[in-house]
Amino acid sequence: MSEIQQIGVSLWKLLKRWFDTYSETELASGQDSHAMDLGRILPFIGLHVAVLAVFWVGWSPIAITTAVGLYVVRMFAITGFYHRYFSHRSYRTSRWMQFVFAFIGASAVQRGPLWWAANHRIHHSHADQPADVHSPMQHGLWWSHVGWLLTHDQRSTKLKYVKDFSRYPELRFLDRFDVLVPLILAGSLFLFGGWLEHVHPNLGTSAWQMLTWGFVISTVALWHGTFTINSLSHRFGRRRYATPDTSRNNFALAILTFGEGWHNNHHQYPTSTRQGFQWWEVDITYYLLRGFQLCGLIWDIRPVPAWVLNQQDLDQTGQGINSKKIAV
Ligand SMILES: [Zn+2]
Ligand SMILES: [Zn+2]
Repeated sequence: MSEIQQIGVSLWKLLKRWFDTYSETELASGQDSHAMDLGRILPFIGLHVAVLAVFWVGWSPIAITTAVGLYVVRMFAITGFYHRYFSHRSYRTSRWMQFVFAFIGASAVQRGPLWWAANHRIHHSHADQPADVHSPMQHGLWWSHVGWLLTHDQRSTKLKYVKDFSRYPELRFLDRFDVLVPLILAGSLFLFGGWLEHVHPNLGTSAWQMLTWGFVISTVALWHGTFTINSLSHRFGRRRYATPDTSRNNFALAILTFGEGWHNNHHQYPTSTRQGFQWWEVDITYYLLRGFQLCGLIWDIRPVPAWVLNQQDLDQTGQGINSKKIAV
C-alpha cells in the first residue's frame, strides 16, 4: 500500500470512528490512553477556528438572539438532563421524556448522554483522586478544562458505569452516533438563515451567519461555560462543606451555568435535584425543573435532607480535610 493510500485509510478510519463512536473502541497495543486523539482534536479546534467566520458573515440581532437562545436551552439541557437526570437520577420521568431529554442534550455537542453520565459518575466516585478523569489537582487546570476530553481514553463510552440507562436502545443509538443531533441542528440553522434571507431580508441575516452565530459561537461558548465546572469550580470559590475533594461554591459560575457553580454543595450531596441549597444561591436549572414538575413532565424530585442543610458553614476558611491540597 502506498503512503497516500495509507493516509487515506487512516483518515477514513478517523472519520468512521468520529461518526460511529462504538465502531472502534479498543486502543492499539502500546497506545497511551492519555495521548491526544487526532479524531477528537481536529473537530474541536476546527469549531474554534470557525468562530473567525464572524468577520465575513457579520452579525444581526436575530443571529445573536438565536445564539443566546441556544446557549440557554442547551445549558439547561446539560445541567437539567445530562447532569441531574442521567448522571445522578435526581428525579424521575417517562421513557418518552427521557429520550426527548437525551436528544436535546445531544445538541450541546458534548457527546452522548451515556458517555457524559459515565464520566461524571467516575468523577464523583474518585473526585480529585488519580482515577478522576478531569481533576485539576491531579493533572492541572488546562487538563481538567479541556485536555481530558481529547484523549484516546475518551473515545468510547464506559458503559459499565451507566448500566441503568444503557439498557435502552434509543439511548445507546444517540450515544453511539453522537454527531447526528449536532449535524441536524447545524443543518437546520443553515436552512433557517437562508430562508430568512429570502423571506425577511430586512433582518439582515443569511445561512452562513445563522450557522456561525447559532451553532459555532453558541456551541463554543457553551463548551467553555460547562467546562468551568470541571476546572474553575474545583479551584475558585468558597467551601461550605469539608468534602474529600476540592469542590467550591462560586456565584459567578452558578449564574453562567444555571446553578452548577454551587459545586461544593453538589459534592456534599450529589443526588438532590437542587444545587443551590440556600434561597440566595441562584439555581436556574432547579427553578425550571420545578416548572417541569408542575406540568407533570417529571416527578419525585429529590430534596436536600435536613441533616445536610444543618451541616453548613463547616469549612468556610478552606481548612477542611483537603486544606493542604487546596493550598497548592
Ligand atoms: Zn466536581
Ligand atoms: Zn454531579
